[in-house]
Amino acid sequence: MSSKNPINKDINKDINKDINKDINKDINKEHMESKDSEDNEEFDEIETFEELDVDKNIIRGVFSYGFEKPSPIQKKAIRPVLSGRDVIAQAQSGTGKTATFTLGVLGRINVAENKTQALILAHTRELALQIHNVFSQIGNYMDIIYNLSIKGISTSENINALCKKPRRPHIVIGTPGRVLDMINKKALQVETIKMIVIDEADEMLSEGFVDQIYNILRTTPSDSQICLFSATMPSSFFDMSTKFMRDPIKILVKSDQLTLEGIKQYYIDVQKHSYKFDTLCDLYSLLTINQSMIYCNSKKTVDDLTYKMKEANFSVSYIHGAITPQEREDTMAAFRSGATRVLISTDLLARGIDVQQVSIVINYDVPSNVESYLHRIGRSGRFGRKGVGINFITNYDIEKIKNIEQFYETTIEEMPADISSILQ
Ligand code: AMP
Repeated sequence: MSSKNPINKDINKDINKDINKDINKDINKEHMESKDSEDNEEFDEIETFEELDVDKNIIRGVFSYGFEKPSPIQKKAIRPVLSGRDVIAQAQSGTGKTATFTLGVLGRINVAENKTQALILAHTRELALQIHNVFSQIGNYMDIIYNLSIKGISTSENINALCKKPRRPHIVIGTPGRVLDMINKKALQVETIKMIVIDEADEMLSEGFVDQIYNILRTTPSDSQICLFSATMPSSFFDMSTKFMRDPIKILVKSDQLTLEGIKQYYIDVQKHSYKFDTLCDLYSLLTINQSMIYCNSKKTVDDLTYKMKEANFSVSYIHGAITPQEREDTMAAFRSGATRVLISTDLLARGIDVQQVSIVINYDVPSNVESYLHRIGRSGRFGRKGVGINFITNYDIEKIKNIEQFYETTIEEMPADISSILQ
């Protein structure tokens, strides 16, 4: 079982070449527009969760979690994941990808075998925690042992949990750095892993993570199933995936589905950066907003804005890569519970994070790449709820906004004078 992946020999050679391509730009429209692959016709879509050939306790877990009917990605992708084949699944942010792989993974775990069987990789500890939460809830009626391998948990505690006898965790959820560390320390039992899920896969195959991902794949059994999930998939992503995937089933969303549909998008022409704060205060004084997120392009802007908003008595918290894991966790907990109403963030939190109550996302700074726009604005309007995205634009952003409109074939309208109407 512990054979090393032969295709991995080639991986190293190609890493540098691949990461030099600008994979975060230029999402390949051809791939997006492609119809679901023919492979996918092997698997009938499900209409109900009961049609899945899995332990009844999983179905119990789904219903008690509050899901009634599968979402489009769940209809298409759970069966392929359960089949053991490699899978590449792309669907818009907030459409139920986490539960798709959660059900697929839970259905493949043999609870009676006290071995680590699945590895789920996420790019931030927040996302890993969120995934862990979905697994624990949907798997509530199963006797599954989970492990979180993320920063913020002490290394010795992490090692103990992974090596615990007689029962090792069936499923490990973690971030690439810590997971690799646990593999190198021989704590994580890689030989028995039969499936690896990589969430936000295009980010994971970009410069910051790709070496770690390849190193993890090099140690895991060559016949492990690999499943990649993401909302956006640049063209180079597909080239790279051929190096470590075997004949994957591709479930790709057609371009007309990958839109910002359901989210009203506006811009406010603030002219100069220095006018943004007053505009923001005006906006909040006019709108009754349950919870909102504000995105800035730099840590410094996040810090400055947080300071000013606190001074103006707003209930805000902030998050970016320079604060400690514990602070990040506390911040997210406070925001999820509603203790703080505004969360200010860099792109660190643009992907994958699910906070149900967020109805408004404000781009205090317009993001520089089009993909970030979709990930950020996708924070509002989760799972079919109505959402609003508001962009503060200066004279420098006009071009960026035009690009975004063109790319997503969408319209970003000027904010109406009757602001309160936008939340109706
Ligand atoms: P995700 O794309 O995994 O972040 O999920 C987005 C949101 O949709 C989460 O709040 C999920 O709990 C919710 N969700 C996912 N699948 C379903 C479903 N089948 N029915 C209702 N809500 C769902």
